[in-house]
Amino acid sequence: MNRSTKRSYVLYALILAFLAGVGVMIFNFIVHGDEWVSSKANKHVYNGGALTCGGTIFDRDGVYLAKTEKGKRVFNSSSTLRKATLHIVGDTQGYIPTGTHTVYSEQLSGYSIVDGVYKLKEYGKGNDIYLTVSAKACRAAYEALEGFNGAVGVYNYKTGEVLCDVSKPTYDIENKPSDLLKNEEKYKGVFINRFFSGLYVPGSVFKVVTAACAIENIPDIYTRKFECKGKTSFAGGTVICNGVHGKISFKEALNKSCNCAFSQIAVELGAEKLTATANAFGFNQSLKATKINVGKSRFNITGSQDYEIGWAGIGQYTTLVSPCQVVMFMGAIANGGAAAEPQTVKKIVSPTGLTVSGLRQKNSTISIDPSTADKLKTLLRSNVKDSYGDNRFPGLEMCGKTGTAEVDDGKPHSWFAGFSMREDFPYAVVVIAENAGSGYGVAMSTANKVMQTILKG
Ligand SMILES: [Zn+2]
Repeated sequence: MNRSTKRSYVLYALILAFLAGVGVMIFNFIVHGDEWVSSKANKHVYNGGALTCGGTIFDRDGVYLAKTEKGKRVFNSSSTLRKATLHIVGDTQGYIPTGTHTVYSEQLSGYSIVDGVYKLKEYGKGNDIYLTVSAKACRAAYEALEGFNGAVGVYNYKTGEVLCDVSKPTYDIENKPSDLLKNEEKYKGVFINRFFSGLYVPGSVFKVVTAACAIENIPDIYTRKFECKGKTSFAGGTVICNGVHGKISFKEALNKSCNCAFSQIAVELGAEKLTATANAFGFNQSLKATKINVGKSRFNITGSQDYEIGWAGIGQYTTLVSPCQVVMFMGAIANGGAAAEPQTVKKIVSPTGLTVSGLRQKNSTISIDPSTADKLKTLLRSNVKDSYGDNRFPGLEMCGKTGTAEVDDGKPHSWFAGFSMREDFPYAVVVIAENAGSGYGVAMSTANKVMQTILKG
């Protein structure tokens, strides 16, 4: 081996080592770069742990909800709007995990793999984010809920755009209450977005799932008659009804939300079939609303006694669900069995005015048989038309189901979930008002008010 060959070996080794080093660096940069920039130690973007020079967050119509002014993050001038949009806009310190400030921190700070925080240095701000929510709809929902805690959600089941996302309790981020962390009763779970992450007893809203299972598994369900004497006894215990309905059909049982009929149907169907339908409706699944995880629901009646299955069939027992999942399965029913996955960002615009990201089209993993969805649609339309009254939802051709969920702490939770039949108005809505009593009350009127606000535009 001559001298020059030896030297070239050394050189190759050095080059290889150098390239390996560069490779590791690039790899780390790609994998961890976004973490480095949004790490709270990065002084370009954060000051005292708070995002200071991120882009503006707008609602779908261009109303600003949060922006940076003189190095300080400021929120909309209306205190009501700040409270109504707190959970979707979020805070700059990451207390509200589903807030845009947290979920889209990299996009707001303008970070990109190619030029890091270069944009931020050049333009003094990151990307602007246009949310899918309407400030008007959020305000209407917030006001309609009156003094009650709970959640309101409206989404376009064809595109996935979330038009309304309100969660209460809330607070004014510009005038943070001094007792926010101390007043357990007033601010219990205040940082949780109850629409996406809250888990509630579904109550009679769950009868939609039991009805779907019955349509698919009991061939003569539409011609059957059920007996309601105000209560039904099963092995192990009794299910109580909200009234004494006498002999009623399947459709009337859903119209009147008869617990006797639906608990009998649930026991006849059994644990295996009910569980299969519940899973198709998204129960026990990890559902997504694009970058936000939807609270994981629970439906578990394996090995349960008959009376427990009866209670589960009417949405009590140990079942829990998020309002977002309910509006998603309502959307799927409206849309022939499948619907878009909810999304909260309409577009992201760079400081130079370029749209860097827009709406995504993706179906959720909830999947209902199309013929079942069609039959459920007819039944839910009948609920409003023949039972609640179309005058509760003027001009909406509404389909829906109320729920009055019994809870341990006080009056029942009030639910309403449904959708408009109108082809030109593809929106599903869900309202839960905690301890507000019957679903006919504040839940139904809130659903109408927010839908009317969206209809007016
Ligand atoms: Zn009954």
